Amino acid sequence: MTASPLSVLRLGYRKGRDPRITTHLALVSRALGADRFLLAGDEDSDLFSNVESVNQRFGGSMECEYIKGSMGWLKRFVEEDAGDGEPGVAVHLTMYGEPYREVIPRIRRDRPVVLVVGGAKVPGDVFQHAQYNVAVGNQPHSEVAALALFMEAWFGEGGSERHFPDARLIIEPSARGKSVIDKQRLEEE
Ligand code: SAM
Repeated sequence: MTASPLSVLRLGYRKGRDPRITTHLALVSRALGADRFLLAGDEDSDLFSNVESVNQRFGGSMECEYIKGSMGWLKRFVEEDAGDGEPGVAVHLTMYGEPYREVIPRIRRDRPVVLVVGGAKVPGDVFQHAQYNVAVGNQPHSEVAALALFMEAWFGEGGSERHFPDARLIIEPSARGKSVIDKQRLEEE
């Protein structure tokens, strides 16, 4: 059975204030195995271009998409259509939720999943629409940290060590310094 698609939805993006942390969210999503990164709030084509540029150099095919009307989108995702005409599963990362390691085994994996992360202010409706409200510890911290820890636990051991077959640049693990293979340059030589 092939894995169902995993998306990350970032709510309440503010173009003036959030580009750096939101780019980090997108990069964590990509590096740890998400299929789509969805942005709600302000539109920002530069942010999407940055992620696309990482895809081109380091491989992978995570898509970025802007979502208008995120609460309507989320309601539809969980109640009607997760992209294939059937409902999907929404997991909301929040410090008010239940412990993620206890919840993960209960989440069905045969349907598309969206991980929802908030920004400065999270609409109360998210708690109702999401089937799971999940905490990575019940202390306030960061959406980037919460996402990374959740995804590592979701995909299991080795989930953070992804290799993208279409990568142009490949980093060779090294105890000292930087070792990078540029496949394009090798082909040209
Ligand atoms: N004050 C906001 C609210 O209304 O909930 C939360 C702001 S927090 C800086 C931004 C996001 O980080 C949250 O929406 C949540 O997705 C994530 N986050 C922060 N701490 C978390 C935790 N302990 N567990 C899970 N997610 C967390």
